[in-house]
Amino acid sequence: MTTRDRLRIAVQKNGRLAEPSLDLLTRCGLKFRQSRDKLFCFGESMPIDLLLVRDDDIPGLIADGVCDLGFVGRNVLTEDALGREGESPFQELRPLGFGGCRLSIALPQETEWSGPQQLAGMRIATTYPHLLGDWLRTNSVNASIVTLSGSVEIAPRLGTADLICDLVSSGATLAANQLKEAVILQRSEAVLASSAELPSDERGDLIELLLRRLDSVVNVRESRLVMLQAPRSALDIIVDLLPGKPQPTVTSIEGSPDDISLQAVCNGSVSWQDLEQMKRAGARSMLVLPVEKMLA
Ligand code: ATP
Ligand code: ZN
Repeated sequence: MTTRDRLRIAVQKNGRLAEPSLDLLTRCGLKFRQSRDKLFCFGESMPIDLLLVRDDDIPGLIADGVCDLGFVGRNVLTEDALGREGESPFQELRPLGFGGCRLSIALPQETEWSGPQQLAGMRIATTYPHLLGDWLRTNSVNASIVTLSGSVEIAPRLGTADLICDLVSSGATLAANQLKEAVILQRSEAVLASSAELPSDERGDLIELLLRRLDSVVNVRESRLVMLQAPRSALDIIVDLLPGKPQPTVTSIEGSPDDISLQAVCNGSVSWQDLEQMKRAGARSMLVLPVEKMLA
């Protein structure tokens, strides 16, 4: 294992993961000075530097020891690991809560989905041949994989494949190409990845520190402070409706002995549906606020 006294993290240069990754690192208190070629960011507040690269290069940079950590989609990490001999050289240290998507098989809209065996003998276009091959093997399906480097969704119309295996988030791209999602192979999001074995020098300590900060940043990001008033009799129902079943602070309201005021930090976002259900249960004057920092 290489020794270095600074930690190096690979981050996507341009694309869906670039901004949320940098944003997360900034929230962890890291500050960077970018090199003139914009490929390297020198860590000014801690000995942690960034390498800005294409997302597909991130697993290789970790496997080769060029970078210690990477912010990368689980789909890209798994695809790379499955393409290697033997055990995965990577581990997922944390899911990061952004870049959510699914790797799915999609069919022409008019085709009914009857199960994996329906794919026997078909040509499936994908940029994820190893993930798809693994799924086909697990399901004992004999289909041919057409590996493309992009624009997979137009392959059925071009006649180069019968169906596709691609990333889906909203499903809008599929719909625009008269395709529909049939089966999910993998649920993905951005993850903090490292090699299977963490460095045992100072970089190991830096990773520990970064993980602690990441955990509190991610926790805070998902937390909401909920404040409301309600009849005391509705308290149990309302607490059940709050995401993550928090332990609320309940106080009485001067002059209304049957009512309470509630304050709770919820782990998870509060939807309009949640609020409407609480309102039906008797809650009123509801406020949902983001939390900026939290120290237990
Ligand atoms: P690069 O130039 O770095 O190779 P790219 O075009 O391969 O970029 P992006 O489109 O930015 O990559 O996607 C990066 C990651 O974002 C994907 O690997 C995936 O984990 C995630 N992602 C989330 N939603 C989607 C989506 N709808 N389509 C594609 N990727 C998505
Ligand atoms: Zn890519």
